[in-house]
Order: sequence, then structure tokens, then C-alpha cells
Amino acid sequence: MDSFNRLEEIFRKFPGIGPRQAKRFVYHLLTQTDIDIDDFANHLKNIKSQTVLCESCCRFYTIKAGVDKNLNTICNICSDQNRDNSLLMVVSKDIDLLTIEKSKAFNGLYFVLGGNIPILEDFPQDKIRQKELVKKVNLLSQSNTLKEIIIATSINPEGEHTAMYISNILRPLITTSGKNIQNIKITTLGRGLSSGSELEYSDGDTLKSALENRKVAR
Ligand SMILES: [Zn+2]
Repeated sequence: MDSFNRLEEIFRKFPGIGPRQAKRFVYHLLTQTDIDIDDFANHLKNIKSQTVLCESCCRFYTIKAGVDKNLNTICNICSDQNRDNSLLMVVSKDIDLLTIEKSKAFNGLYFVLGGNIPILEDFPQDKIRQKELVKKVNLLSQSNTLKEIIIATSINPEGEHTAMYISNILRPLITTSGKNIQNIKITTLGRGLSSGSELEYSDGDTLKSALENRKVAR
């Protein structure tokens, strides 16, 4: 396959990109200077080596130049002593975490699922970082600091389906013989976010109000 068609095929795999947009991206590249193209190619090559998945919250973050990638496995949010470790917010995607951070509506800890669970999915456990989430919640609940898990998925059918799946997974972890002895609540975002809302497109005020009005998960 020639480079034009191959690049178009690659761009088409990007989230939310259709065939027309993919073609426009390739034509856009053709208008760039050789220096711009080299710069683009270099960053593409480097992005994986400069970015690490945080062992604790599973978000991608950029490591500082010169730091050993293998030694630096906890991100700046997880290692920040000023964060409220009684709150854990579970989000679907990295971009949702960034949107919430930008809104300054939340100062607790995060966990990034890495996706949503499609309705009628046969292998839901493979669509999200389920094992890692269970490990994180077990660790936090053992430390006796955790008070609430906020499931902040998008208010659309897939997001709500994911939220329900997660609360069913987490509930047994925080209860003993059916009793919530540790008093850890599981909540979801409340009013403010309208139906069909993708979290990543919500503004700061809407997110603040959705957080203030959060409700106990079903
Ligand atoms: Zn982290």
C-alpha cells in the first residue's frame, strides 16, 4: 500500500475520525514543510518512550527528561501528599481525568478504566482495567482512609452500563457478609450533566454541580 492510503487508513482508526477527515489529515500533511514532517515523525517515535502508565491510577503521563522510565511509575497526582485520599474517582478515559483536573472540582485520587463496556459485551472484564481497579480499591480500603468511590462515567447508555458493572464489581470488595462495615460509599455523578453527556466535553461548572449532586450508585 502506498503511503497516502496507508496514512489515511491509520488516521481512520483514530477515535471519532471518519474517512473524509482521515483524507483531510493526509492532505494537510502534504502542505507541511519537510521540517514540520520530520518534527511530527520524531514526536510519533518518541511518544511511547517518554510516556508511562502510572502503576497506581493507570493514567498516561510524561516522564521528565533524563529520568529512568522503569523507576518512575507513579504519576504526580498519585504522589501528591496534598490530595484527599478518602475519595477515589473512577473515570473511563485519560481525557476525562484531564477535564476534571482542569475544572478544579475534585482533589481526590483517580483510577482510569481505559474504556467503557459496550452493552451486551461477552467479555466485559477485557474492556476495562478490572484487575487493576480491584487491586487499587483493595489497597485503599486496607489503609482505612477510603470513604467514597465516585464512578464518573459519561451519562450515556454505555457509560451508565459501565457504571453499573463497576459498582457490582466493587460492592463485594467493601462489604463483609453483606454489611458495609468500612462505610465506603459508591456514588455516581448527579444532576448537572445532561443525558447523553460525554464527560470530556463538559465544562467546569457543570462538572462541579454534578459532583456536588452525586448520588449513591444503584
Ligand atoms: Zn497516578
